[in-house]
Amino acid sequence: MTERRRIGPGATCPHGIRFPVSYVIPFLAALLGISCSGQPKGGGEDVDWPEERAAMVRQLLNYRIGDRRVIAAMKKVRRHLYIPERRRYRGSAYGDHAWPIGHGQTISQPYIVAYMTERMQLNPGEKVLEIGTGSGYQAAILAEMGAKVYTIEIIPELADHARRVLAAEGYDRVKVLTGDGYKGWPEHAPFDAVIVTCAPEEMPQALVDQLRDGGRMILPIGVRAQRLVILRKEQGKVRQTDDLMVRFVPMVKGKH
Ligand code: SAH
Repeated sequence: MTERRRIGPGATCPHGIRFPVSYVIPFLAALLGISCSGQPKGGGEDVDWPEERAAMVRQLLNYRIGDRRVIAAMKKVRRHLYIPERRRYRGSAYGDHAWPIGHGQTISQPYIVAYMTERMQLNPGEKVLEIGTGSGYQAAILAEMGAKVYTIEIIPELADHARRVLAAEGYDRVKVLTGDGYKGWPEHAPFDAVIVTCAPEEMPQALVDQLRDGGRMILPIGVRAQRLVILRKEQGKVRQTDDLMVRFVPMVKGKH
């Protein structure tokens, strides 16, 4: 029987999870953005941490992520660099959980990133809109899958950070917009796929409108109890299916 248990901020894992003390202490430190003794911290742009990434990928295979391209992307993208340096810890950057990135936001759990990417069924060259750039990690995974990525972040400092890391890591073709995701990005529509990594209370209509016919959208919907929803547009009709229970940060309403 599959157990559904909530795991930290950011997302829910349907397979159950342990909470080691080695996770809790650095988590609190990262939340506050302070150094935490006993844990190797930092790791500038020169460190690579391939063993941690390989362990993360083994975990994804255990979770039945089967798309080889998703696995290859997760193996390649240096997740730790998307976490601001003072919140970056060796083990935790690649742990099976979401992680604080500042401004009350989190980088999603690796499993949720992989799962949502897999469900988008992306083909190379497709145009993808992401709402909620956050750290920039999900955008990097999408770019690594060969997508043309447009991503919107409402917190300017996070958008700036993501822009810098993405460019430094060679994903300079990812377009990052500082703005309100509820509006989408009409200048670049229609999109082949839309992924939302923060949770609106209801389906944002502008995003449905900006999806091309044959396009797919994946997003969490809800306030406390959230569910991933997969939407397909076919011959002008919209078909929605409910998926995993998850927990994302809310999609906040912009001021304008
Ligand atoms: N995809 C991210 C995880 C993002 S956390 C990653 O890979 O790290 C969700 C992000 O959505 C937060 O950074 C939050 O600021 C942003 N967000 C919330 N409401 C938004 C809105 N209306 N428009 C754009 N971004 C929004």
